[in-house]
Amino acid sequence: MMRLARKIPRACGFTLLELLVVVVILGMLAALGFSGAQAALRKGGATECVSNMRQIASAVQLYAVENNGNLPDIQHGGRISWTNALGDFLGPQFIGRCPSLKNYPLAIDVTYAWNDMLADPATARGIPLTKIARPSSTLLIAEKQASLGDFDHFHFRGALGARGRMSIVQFEREVNTKAHGASANFLFADGHVESLGSVQLQSRLSLSNPPFLVP
Ligand SMILES: [Zn+2]
Repeated sequence: MMRLARKIPRACGFTLLELLVVVVILGMLAALGFSGAQAALRKGGATECVSNMRQIASAVQLYAVENNGNLPDIQHGGRISWTNALGDFLGPQFIGRCPSLKNYPLAIDVTYAWNDMLADPATARGIPLTKIARPSSTLLIAEKQASLGDFDHFHFRGALGARGRMSIVQFEREVNTKAHGASANFLFADGHVESLGSVQLQSRLSLSNPPFLVP
């Protein structure tokens, strides 16, 4: 009887230690599930962003075919922005905002900006695609910082200056290199998209007149 009487209360309840272990395990499972869901969300945004860029790449090709092989213009001195010039080729389904940049002001219709080195500095007209010596190395569009507002292009020409060099700090003043966690998406002139982080960008910018920016 004595043994049974001692056993019953133990069988009916959990000890404090057992409860604590359960709470800790549940907490860990919840944290794992949450970070998993967050990673999936980020990845989802990055996938849509890559798809946005691929659509822009196709539109650029179609535009060039109809415009003597030239790239679209950038918005300067009354020139029509590439964002409008490509409109006919992108179609009404196109969404120009990267889904990962939800905190950007709604006034920013397009969260991507153009490499200004691909436009004539005097006229803002797009250069011919054939003038790009290494299309698989040269940037066409990247994700812009919210501070760039509705600007349609970056200002690499001024930053590169006569020395033809730019630091990652200068680059990141206009380019959002952390749009997707530790990296961002970059569309190249040959139409391929790459996800690059700061270290990879730094090495591409380390050259004088880097082919990454200079056609
Ligand atoms: Zn993006």
